[in-house]
Amino acid sequence: MPDFKVAIIGAGPSAFYAAAALIKPADASIKVDLFDRLPAPYGLVRYGVAPDHPKIKSVANLYEKTALDPRVRFFGCAEYGKHFDLAALRAHYDMVVFATGAQSDRNLGIPGEDLKGSMSATEFVAWYNGHPDYRDLNPNLDIEGVVVVGVGNVAMDVARILAKSYDELKVTDIADHALEALKHSKVKHIHVLGRRGPAQAKFTNPEIKEFGHLEVADPVVKAAELELDPDSAKLCETDRLTRQNVDFLREYAARGHGSKARKVHFRFLVSPTEIHGKDGWVSSVKIERNRLVSVNGDQKCEGIGEFEELPAGMVLRSVGYYGVALPGVPYDKRKGIIPNAGGRVTEGDAPVPGLYVVGWAKRGPTGVIGTNKKDAEETVALMLEDMKSAAPKAKGDIAQLLEQKGCGYVSFDEWQKINAKEVEKGQAQNRPRVKFINIEEMRA
Ligand code: NAP
Repeated sequence: MPDFKVAIIGAGPSAFYAAAALIKPADASIKVDLFDRLPAPYGLVRYGVAPDHPKIKSVANLYEKTALDPRVRFFGCAEYGKHFDLAALRAHYDMVVFATGAQSDRNLGIPGEDLKGSMSATEFVAWYNGHPDYRDLNPNLDIEGVVVVGVGNVAMDVARILAKSYDELKVTDIADHALEALKHSKVKHIHVLGRRGPAQAKFTNPEIKEFGHLEVADPVVKAAELELDPDSAKLCETDRLTRQNVDFLREYAARGHGSKARKVHFRFLVSPTEIHGKDGWVSSVKIERNRLVSVNGDQKCEGIGEFEELPAGMVLRSVGYYGVALPGVPYDKRKGIIPNAGGRVTEGDAPVPGLYVVGWAKRGPTGVIGTNKKDAEETVALMLEDMKSAAPKAKGDIAQLLEQKGCGYVSFDEWQKINAKEVEKGQAQNRPRVKFINIEEMRA
């Protein structure tokens, strides 16, 4: 197969799985350039995965192997729409893969959401993981109550980080500013709200299990909220993972309140209806009890007109990420994805030649890091098929364009120097790394 050049926009997990699959065929000599607007590669592995889950982060070692292949280059601090556009990519590459993830989040659409202290869990995650854009978020932790809306794994992450002790956090790679703020946290009650029942919770078994072993926090569950309707009971019988989730919650309910200083209250069949404030800050959250109703075989929830007020100084909405539109690229606003057929970008029903998509930008914000491998391989299989009937175009090197634009990109070599320095700083403190937060500091 002749030399094709591929640009991948984004350098998170799905980008690296796509790059690995593109350089895999023995008969292909495909060259791959990865672009990220930040100096650091690995996307959500660095800025999304919880700092106390280091095993998940070790997947970066695999991505590093891909990046070190001579056919692969990394351009950090090189941003689509700022330093280059689609026309420039088309001029320099045969194919372009969008691996831009889901950079925004969903709103609740209830009154009070814009009060101070109300934010998305994704912002809070980015803050404690040292994402340069969120270093000034400065959440007020001089409060006792936090409401986390949603029962997916992101909700579990933020609830757990808020529930953990300084000793538990100080051995992780959590951002220094977050470690310092959490050290002085006054948070006592973390209310995690599921709008449907325990059998419909999206969290996975290891995530709910962890709450049974925290140093300074007890999980608290109301047995009455674990009662299952016939459809949910059937689901528990047939689905082992659902049953295990419910079993963990039943075990927590049986424990009672416990004696630890902090409590994580897992609530089910409740929805926030209004966030109340005082002096511009969140002061409480009004919630309504729900019941489950079956709609075309799906278990949905509806309010039953019974309300409760939870005192809280912070609300973290954790109801899913949402993809944003990229200039010049087709976009499905309802789903927040780039419309595609198996990874070939489509407009109307027709494929757009040369454009592909992987990861959350392709399928929406679902699945764990590893899910992106199969997803990227599906897209790359189509790319390899399309290459069979195409000829590579004559092209220059994008590095020249980036230099003309004053981009001052960060190469993978340079990233490795930043990485080595972070790890070195970490060793001195018995931590995996101490992250640089400031882009200029990283460059320096
Ligand atoms: P998610 O798994 O889709 O969970 C979203 C949660 O928000 C669900 O409980 C959903 O309830 C709820 N929700 C949605 N709209 C709501 C509303 N208007 N009011 C109240 N609740 C609402 O999303 P996520 O937690 O952001 O996670 C994204 C993906 O990343 C998932 O695949 C997750 O497994 C993965 N992830 C994995 C890990 C890990 O492996 N440790 C860590 C973090 C994230 P309904 O079910 O009723 O819609």
